[in-house]
Amino acid sequence: MSSDRESSPDHYLSKFGLIDFRPGQRDVIETVLNGDDCLCIMPTGGGKSLCYQLPTLMRDGVTLVVSPLIALMKDQVDSLSRRGIGCNYLNSTLTPAEQADCLGRLTDGEYSLLYVAPERFRSPRFLEAIGRTRVQLLAVDEAHCISEWGHDFRHDYARLGEFREQLGNPQTIALTATATDEVRRDVAKQLNLNDAKTFIAGFARPNLHYQVQAHSGHRDKREALRAFIDETPGSGIVYAATRKACDELGSAMADWQKREVVVYHGGLSGDERRSVQEDFMQAEDAIVVATNAFGMGIDKSNVRFVAHYNMPGSLEAYYQEAGRAGRDGHDSKCVLFYSPSDRYIQEFFIESAFPHRETIGQVYDYLRIRDENPIEVTQEEIRNTIESSISNEGVGTCERLLEKCGVLERLEPHRKMAMVRIDSDVPSLCDFLSPKAQTQRTVARVIEKRIGARRYELVYVYPHEIAEAAAMAPAAVNRAIRELNRLEAFTYIPPFRGRALRMIRKDQRFEELELDFADLEKRRQANLDKLQQVVQFSTSHRCRQEILLNYFGETNSADCGHCDNCHSRGPLDEAGEQQPVDERIQTVIAKLLSGVARTRGRFGKQMVIGMLCGSRSAKVLKWKLDSLSTFGVLRQFTQPEVGELLDVAIAAGLIEQPEIDRFRPIIKLTDRGVEVMKGRLPLINLRLPRSLQLKICGSLPAQSANSARKNRSEPEPVITPAELPNNGPVPVPAVRIDQADSLPTPKRPAQGAMISSGAQDDLSSDPEYCLTWRLLAVDGYSLEQCAAIRRLSEEQILDHALRAVEEGRPIPLKNVFPTAVFDHLEEMVGQQPNRSFRAEVAKLPDTITPHHLQLYCKWRIAETSDDITTFDN
Ligand code: ADP
Ligand code: MG
Repeated sequence: MSSDRESSPDHYLSKFGLIDFRPGQRDVIETVLNGDDCLCIMPTGGGKSLCYQLPTLMRDGVTLVVSPLIALMKDQVDSLSRRGIGCNYLNSTLTPAEQADCLGRLTDGEYSLLYVAPERFRSPRFLEAIGRTRVQLLAVDEAHCISEWGHDFRHDYARLGEFREQLGNPQTIALTATATDEVRRDVAKQLNLNDAKTFIAGFARPNLHYQVQAHSGHRDKREALRAFIDETPGSGIVYAATRKACDELGSAMADWQKREVVVYHGGLSGDERRSVQEDFMQAEDAIVVATNAFGMGIDKSNVRFVAHYNMPGSLEAYYQEAGRAGRDGHDSKCVLFYSPSDRYIQEFFIESAFPHRETIGQVYDYLRIRDENPIEVTQEEIRNTIESSISNEGVGTCERLLEKCGVLERLEPHRKMAMVRIDSDVPSLCDFLSPKAQTQRTVARVIEKRIGARRYELVYVYPHEIAEAAAMAPAAVNRAIRELNRLEAFTYIPPFRGRALRMIRKDQRFEELELDFADLEKRRQANLDKLQQVVQFSTSHRCRQEILLNYFGETNSADCGHCDNCHSRGPLDEAGEQQPVDERIQTVIAKLLSGVARTRGRFGKQMVIGMLCGSRSAKVLKWKLDSLSTFGVLRQFTQPEVGELLDVAIAAGLIEQPEIDRFRPIIKLTDRGVEVMKGRLPLINLRLPRSLQLKICGSLPAQSANSARKNRSEPEPVITPAELPNNGPVPVPAVRIDQADSLPTPKRPAQGAMISSGAQDDLSSDPEYCLTWRLLAVDGYSLEQCAAIRRLSEEQILDHALRAVEEGRPIPLKNVFPTAVFDHLEEMVGQQPNRSFRAEVAKLPDTITPHHLQLYCKWRIAETSDDITTFDN
């Protein structure tokens, strides 16, 4: 390494058949050459291997590469060997002779790199050989396996810190594609890396065009998927959450697709999966509809699109799956069809992987009271008998957890075989038997012979073979075995057909079991958090790529410029270019948001729907939701329609459904929803199903809000919206709305049934004050604007407003009055809107009349009496 040229990493690139470094590689390599420990985070396929392989060639000594996958070791070693680099792997696929040979060559200094699995560090012979070798670098590949938060945690990986110490803490590089904070911290901690330099690079995929389409209903989503696929040529992957969805989509797609459509999921046999995979790899343009089981090891370079029909469980998963598009560097599309309710599918998966305490308890109690042992029972049968809602897989998780704490063991069926076990070191079971029990003694000896040295473990036997060996009739053998089974040291499990569970002990109450519920809970929560980030990604208006990069810890990234959000930002900035949502739809959404705001995040979807539709169900009445001003405000819609409206608002990021308790999501406004309701943000990105558009607008709205107003029977506004302070996209007016606004009297008789009126927007039948109220409350005009529009005096408008408030119609007074007026009144009236102001009226400034004061006081009274404080639960 004398010349400058040879001391530069670039010189060694050609050794690997490469021309340039990829982003981040050079920095990592220089750090390694500098002797520092480092943490290298790059996506799969990003080129992590080079980061330790290249510096290795520039220095003396061997680099020990710890890798979890034996198959990958072989690939790496083969390709390095082809390039004339001395290396090998040491694992259980080698014969003892080969292993010895490998260690010999290692100590002879023939290798620059040696790949080992972490288990290898338990071998004294290996440690001894390593002791005689100069280790220049320890490279821990797939380092997330160290972390309990990494998706494939391995116990031996977790001991690597210890092993590293045994080696004398050599310089270490840890490499992974998983970059969440927890994993990163864990890796550094477990390996005892104090000042590790962290590099995160290469997550940007400039040729991928990310896009999220929000849809509220299944049908909509299907149509949208179809439209997307029709307009997107080439090979593609459609990911769906469940096997059933894959099958359905696959066969539907085969009907309207010319391209070959194949389906891939865990329900297929190994052979079927292999053949599907091959078909997809070879086809010029084929579409595979798959669960997330598809993709490991798929390296098809010309995948032109990846569509997610259902949201994935985490952004890592999304990045991985979407990242299978465009490996060849050509432009490719990644579209996520987002519908809020898909979240429940993922929550269900999380629930299955981390069942709740009571569910585990129910499974345990169900098994504990059964008489037979082992218990032949399917997960489905257990699932059907317990109260908790859980999947078969969830029952399986419960069984595994119970197995771990030693109360049962899961038995796999072997055709017609029984199982026996001797739990004792006595030379023979005969020691426990009476000398007279001849048949038992014979059978015991036959079984002991079968078991041989395998004491303390279950051994499969054919009952008929025992009878033959003992030269006895099967019935006699059975009797003898039943007797033997009374011995504590002997266990006999008769043959069973399906899977079975054997209870080891039943004496413990569930509460006494050693189960770490706190840990289970922590993991469930971590997974729910990850899911929440997918929801945030889907509803965000930021650059999609930037969100992903930030998620992986790459911070100083710029907008990608070609995701859906980057595209829509341009026109949005120049006010007016973006089509505002039809005014009638805005009104409906405003009512919806107000209603949701009123329920203050205390109720689930059904209750909110009931309230909005004016249902007088026992539940709604119990919580006094009928006393809210928004009770029945959307009664022109059916309950399912209001449900759809809520979904639309959720998809648009206005409402969210956090879970406050298990499977108990509540409905509340998002920050964005609050801003939209207050009129501080425009209403955009609303995807209303056609049926609802028709119902609300009478036709599919093509007009903007401005032209819609012109078509109405109301007088032509004197001030056009363009002259109003909030021009640009018309904001949703900040309103609290009472009854359906097309009704002449707000207090409508109670009705159990929903009225599904045609939602005619005929203002002419409303009394005068209702028109005024509508302009103030629904359309969001100020007092001054309203007076101008209606060609009435402000005094008259104040009169109308007063009447509206008296009738129980709320008005956003803060927006109606000029700020100075509102503030003055607020201060003057304070907490006592009911007192007399006679003395103070004379001192009012010129801009404020007694009409203003009167309206303010009435409004304050209405406002506070509307406060619901009684239904805290
Ligand atoms: P990772 O371990 O990050 O998943 P690998 O190290 O296996 O990725 O590299 C993935 C592929 O990228 C390999 O085929 C490798 O040859 C290639 N590669 C790595 N670095 C470069 C580079 N600088 N230029 C071109 N190809 C590269
Ligand atoms: Mg790798």
